[in-house]
Amino acid sequence: MSDNYSGRTIVITGGTSGIGLATTKRFLSAGANVAICGRDETRLKNALSGIKREFGEEHLLGVACDVLNKKQVSDFADAVVDRFGGVDTLVNNAGQARLSTFENTDEEAWREEFELKFFSIIHPSKIFQSHLKKSGSGAIVCVSSLLSRQPEPRLVATSAVRAGQLNLIHSMAAELAPAIRINSILIGVIISGQWHQRFESAKNAGNDFDSWVKKQAIEKGIPLGRFGQPEEAANAIFFLGTPMSSYTTGSTIDLSGGYSRHVG
Ligand code: NDP
Repeated sequence: MSDNYSGRTIVITGGTSGIGLATTKRFLSAGANVAICGRDETRLKNALSGIKREFGEEHLLGVACDVLNKKQVSDFADAVVDRFGGVDTLVNNAGQARLSTFENTDEEAWREEFELKFFSIIHPSKIFQSHLKKSGSGAIVCVSSLLSRQPEPRLVATSAVRAGQLNLIHSMAAELAPAIRINSILIGVIISGQWHQRFESAKNAGNDFDSWVKKQAIEKGIPLGRFGQPEEAANAIFFLGTPMSSYTTGSTIDLSGGYSRHVG
């Protein structure tokens, strides 16, 4: 199957950093149109100028938008359709993890976590749904986590809410078929902006970033012996977000380097 997707339009929430940014480049390198969003204007501007240097600006659109704000998502959708005429793939990627235990997650934190993990999928999926339906090969890809099947002690709220999110995606897959397919990638650890921030706040490690990351991978016991790269996640998103995966919906791809211990 050809790797040329010129004329296909991809929307990537949180496309200004990490996995979203690598996915933007992956689709642009296949000739697709890509629209990205993020909340921080400076991060958006910097990401856009870097991408333009590599790929030009003909197939690129960037809009500041918080996926938790319905009006902003709706304005983002209007801007995408004005510019590219429709939408074929939506990548629900925006978000971050919350480091917390059951003991220290307060009620407000629980609500914030529910809101982020659910509405970062619900708002964009509902708002882009009519355009995806018209595509003829509409696809939604959700960037999720291995935590949805394998909770971690220091990520209690994120793990619980990720499990609910996966359940929601399963329901959506049945309801949106056959017009729109929806699948997820389940990440163990991928090096991204989040991990650079965690490194900054763990300065006592006294290492450079690469050595710190290597040590973390060994301590975690990841069978492939390392964290993943954003480009490895982007390849899986590319597969699920194009007709290459035309007979797959309600499914997941594991990107955990073998760290997954659950069966089924
Ligand atoms: P990064 O921090 O590098 O990127 C996150 C992106 O999301 C940024 O562009 C950020 O921009 C954007 N974003 C965050 N919140 C919002 C929001 N409310 N509205 C719009 N944009 C938003 O992290 P990753 O690449 O690691 O994260 C991508 C996804 O992968 C996240 O959902 C994360 O939870 C998930 N994931 C990542 C793992 C990993 O190991 N890297 C593990 C498991 C899951 P801005 O802040 O400017 O809005």
